[in-house]
Amino acid sequence: MKKIIFVVGGVMSSVGKGVAAASLGSILKSKGFRIANIKCDMYVNIDAGTIRPAEHGEVFVGMDGVEADQDLGNYERFTDQICTRDNYITTGQVYQEVIRRERNLEYNGEDVEVVPDIPNEIIRRIMQCQEKNDSEVTIVELGGTVGEYQLLLFLEAARMMKAKNPEDVSFVMVSYLPTPRLLGEQKSKPTQYAIRTLNSAGIAPDFILCRAESPVGDAIKNTISTVCSLTKERIISAPDVNSIYDIPVNFEKENLGEVLLKAMNLEARQSDLSEWESLSEKIKNLSDEVTIGIVGKYFNLKSCRDTYISVIESINHASWLNGRIPKILWLDSEEYENDPQKINELPQVDGIVVPGGFGARGTEGIMMAIKFARENNIPFLGLCYGMQLAFIEFARNVCGISGATSQEIDPNASDQVIHVMPEQIKNLEQKNYGATMRLGDYPCVLKKSSKSFSAYGMENISERHRHRYELNNDYREILEKNGMMIAGNSPDGLLAEIIEIPSHPFFVATQFHPEFKSRPFTGHPLFNAFVSACVKK
Ligand code: GLN
Repeated sequence: MKKIIFVVGGVMSSVGKGVAAASLGSILKSKGFRIANIKCDMYVNIDAGTIRPAEHGEVFVGMDGVEADQDLGNYERFTDQICTRDNYITTGQVYQEVIRRERNLEYNGEDVEVVPDIPNEIIRRIMQCQEKNDSEVTIVELGGTVGEYQLLLFLEAARMMKAKNPEDVSFVMVSYLPTPRLLGEQKSKPTQYAIRTLNSAGIAPDFILCRAESPVGDAIKNTISTVCSLTKERIISAPDVNSIYDIPVNFEKENLGEVLLKAMNLEARQSDLSEWESLSEKIKNLSDEVTIGIVGKYFNLKSCRDTYISVIESINHASWLNGRIPKILWLDSEEYENDPQKINELPQVDGIVVPGGFGARGTEGIMMAIKFARENNIPFLGLCYGMQLAFIEFARNVCGISGATSQEIDPNASDQVIHVMPEQIKNLEQKNYGATMRLGDYPCVLKKSSKSFSAYGMENISERHRHRYELNNDYREILEKNGMMIAGNSPDGLLAEIIEIPSHPFFVATQFHPEFKSRPFTGHPLFNAFVSACVKK
């Protein structure tokens, strides 16, 4: 019996629906079930690759190169299971496929209707992911909140699945219970309305996860239980947590796994969440901090967490492994451009990370910070654009190539030490931007004398990419002569994947994005080595 759990949001967004869906995956996996997590996004975009991360959150890159919603990162971190394009469905993909089929006469002369043809395509995609993963339980998270018009066709797909196989489909609503300051008590009315809204789509929730500042008490559980005709054991308290990695354990304290299995008619199984328990304990008991500065542009504090979530989580994992509480400072590169003196405030950090990015804005300020890290022996980790800018900074200030830049920053410059990859030229000319970068996992061979090799403990690695530009090989020799090491290359030796400065305590920058592969229990080798260098400093 293959089961589907739909996870829908009630009341408002950004209350941790993705982490809840990911935690469900981790609990069921720990009970020995084969699982898969799917994210459905309501936008008409084909994928997240063309969406601005500063507003909509990080673009997560999968092994197969899918540019997806950040929740796929949560799924991978919580379930330690790889997600691909099969785990990610958007309204755009669904319509594109239905229209393609219509043009191919695949509807055999029938007219094509929004209902049922659009929900049918959503169902086909869910089943395809289930088959490919051979998952016994597939957790399908619907983006957004009930009551949003654009959610309707996905809810209709879910309803149709439930109508066909009532035993195999369950609904979990992640809701929110506000505590107005003047009242000082939790209110369940918004959740009651959200349940009714879901009812009007023909769906009754089987579980309510009650997100709230504090644990949800019995009285409130009773009220919700009466309103939505659910037994109290199916109303789960999900209070704010110290760390998101407490959530699987908290859910299990509420017996969620067992009750869920019962609801789905699956046999009860013991879960082993001991690794999660010890991680939570460890995090709680740390006392010393490590301060990491992340340098970039448009740092509006509200959205930073979502924009750089994988980088932040990688720093978290590595810090915990190094016995430290991570403290992240957001350093706005444009401030250094406006007031170069500000760079002298940088010593307050133990290490500097420059994450990926696009475009010319803020890059001069970022390079000022990189220069400061290089000259003052501050551990530095550059990620993608962070590597390209580190290469430019070194070319300018160490090798004396004063006009060194990237073709992305100045397409007419003569010293483009970072330039567009040959296969990308046509894409740019034709404005063919969507899903055309160098994307996904590529192999890389490490130099044995490098810090990267010591960090990974192996010569052949594979990491995720998302870029159009690359290091210009014409400049390899001069930079190497001046003390930079190309520490990792593509197997054919043509693409530089990692640069290092061997004389510096820790100056490592990668063309790939290691942050997509960090896991809470093990961290990522490069982040672990970077934070270890920060702690030593
Ligand atoms: N803008 C750079 C490129 O396209 C770097 C991309 C990134 O940091 N992800 O090559």
